[in-house]
Amino acid sequence: MKQDFTELKKILQKNSKFTFLSGAGLSTSSGLPDFRSDPDGFWKKNTPVTFQEFQKSETSRIKSWTNNFEILNKIRNSSPSNMHNFINKILCRRPENIHIAQNIDGLHRSHKFKDQIVEIHGSVHTSSCLSCNKQYETLKFYEENILKQQNSNCNSCKDGLVKVDTISFGQALSQISLKKAQEASENCDFFIAIGTSLKVSPANQFPNIALQNNAKLIILNKEETSFDRRAVLVINEDLEEIHEQIN
Ligand SMILES: [Zn+2]
Repeated sequence: MKQDFTELKKILQKNSKFTFLSGAGLSTSSGLPDFRSDPDGFWKKNTPVTFQEFQKSETSRIKSWTNNFEILNKIRNSSPSNMHNFINKILCRRPENIHIAQNIDGLHRSHKFKDQIVEIHGSVHTSSCLSCNKQYETLKFYEENILKQQNSNCNSCKDGLVKVDTISFGQALSQISLKKAQEASENCDFFIAIGTSLKVSPANQFPNIALQNNAKLIILNKEETSFDRRAVLVINEDLEEIHEQIN
């Protein structure tokens, strides 16, 4: 294991092109639950609302908004982990370095390199009208429209429904984000999967794309993944521990 840390440290010091793909493990290192498969059962207490249900009834929309508000409440008390900051340091190095985040919590965000972060499952911090695309700040819309008026209609076009920008079950991912993530997977020297089980599609297609384009795959995840055999380096360890060893 010690040798693996040394090797990882050496690779990360290179001026190579890095693409990171992060999953829930990155957020749990900040103390957030894994909203998709959390053992405390976030989605057991808060029934998920599918995209189809959201479109159908106002009751479902209010429920969906309430769920997202609960998520925002959990995030409010969290701050970026050492590993978040470490990834950001590498993004700062060159504009070709990209972070594909499956995380919706925005803990990875920095205004300095907004264009280098691709949130393929969207973000809980913003909301958009499904008709005219007008964007809102989630918390503000929740307080002014949902809480006060129990109404999720757009202030601008009036008829459109405003939905939090996290991708719901049954909702298509943004084609723009997918394209950016695909390009980042094609154009890197090292593809680093971090805190992700690589079980969720389409995120698990990106390491394949990277490998097909001769990138070297590195996997940093507490549990083993089905891609481990194809990686040049695998460390199955807690992310904070990994950070400790390579910092
Ligand atoms: Zn609208």
